[in-house]
Amino acid sequence: RAKARARGTISVFAPEMDMQIRDRRALHQDLSGAIRNGELSLYYQPQASSSKLVAETNIVGFEALARWCHPIRGFVPPSEFIPLAEESGLIVEIGEWILREACRQAAAWPKPLQIAVNLSPAQFLNSDLVSFVHRVLIETGLQPGRLELEITEGVLIEDFERGLSLLRRLKALGVRISMDDFGSGYSSLTYLQAFPFDKIKIDRAFIMNLGRNVQSAAIVRAVIGLGHGLGVSLVAEGVETQEQLDFLVEEGCDAMQGYLIGRPAPIDAYPWLVGVTPRLGGASALARQAS
Ligand code: C2E
Ligand code: MG
Ligand code: MG
Ligand code: MG
Repeated sequence: RAKARARGTISVFAPEMDMQIRDRRALHQDLSGAIRNGELSLYYQPQASSSKLVAETNIVGFEALARWCHPIRGFVPPSEFIPLAEESGLIVEIGEWILREACRQAAAWPKPLQIAVNLSPAQFLNSDLVSFVHRVLIETGLQPGRLELEITEGVLIEDFERGLSLLRRLKALGVRISMDDFGSGYSSLTYLQAFPFDKIKIDRAFIMNLGRNVQSAAIVRAVIGLGHGLGVSLVAEGVETQEQLDFLVEEGCDAMQGYLIGRPAPIDAYPWLVGVTPRLGGASALARQAS
């Protein structure tokens, strides 16, 4: 630790690179105290069911998204601190905090909405995952069927047998499993057939290109058909425009997530859904729209 903090050490790297490494070290140091210092929080992004899109109560669940508010740097995006936490092993502690916090909050909501939590590869492959999830469900009293664990296909490539056994054990607890960012990695149809997913989340890249190229429309249509053929429900990520939404509803996509529905926000931006007192300035686009 003292070493990591040492300044002015001789370096064989270019100055900018040295800066980056020092920066990472400092950031890692700070991250290790983030939970203790109350700097981590969860934002929630709503998912809307297509069949109820016109109704007021179209929100069927939320995805919990981790936020780190660094005392000096401000918000550090999860795309930066989650990989950092993975490299340093802090992900176990941070991931446990995230799952416990999400389940604890969701258990207190007056409506039994779904709560989706992301699992990073290191967390997924951790040998204690299943017993930890089990413990958190008991501790928080959350109905297992309300919890959805999101994993990316990458984690399954590492070890097929182990991945399959983990998914089966998680499913045996009664939780649901979503394949996140489908199509962004080395998606294989074998995975869809072999693994017991409940949901497929179509990667934002395809949704973004819907109005721009015909290939994306063809792919999205095919993925929806494929998912339904396998008895899996489909969620579109990153829905930002009415045109995208219309296309997806038309094609039978089951649920939507994206800025058009609502931006990730602290849970008190959704008081009528989750029964919390709204705080000033925390309103999301959806909250404003409905108030
Ligand atoms: P993800 O799980 O695919 O989450 C969706 C990301 O897309 C979120 O970014 C969300 O803010 C963003 N997003 C949602 N709708 C729209 C939209 O309409 N347009 C655009 N441009 N973006 C949209 P965020 O919160 O920065 O998270 C990025 C990634 O970091 C997540 O991707 C996930 O892989 C990871 N992450 C976030 N929270 C956690 C966590 O608690 N645990 C783990 N292991 N990973 C997390
Ligand atoms: Mg996700
Ligand atoms: Mg995703
Ligand atoms: Mg994505």
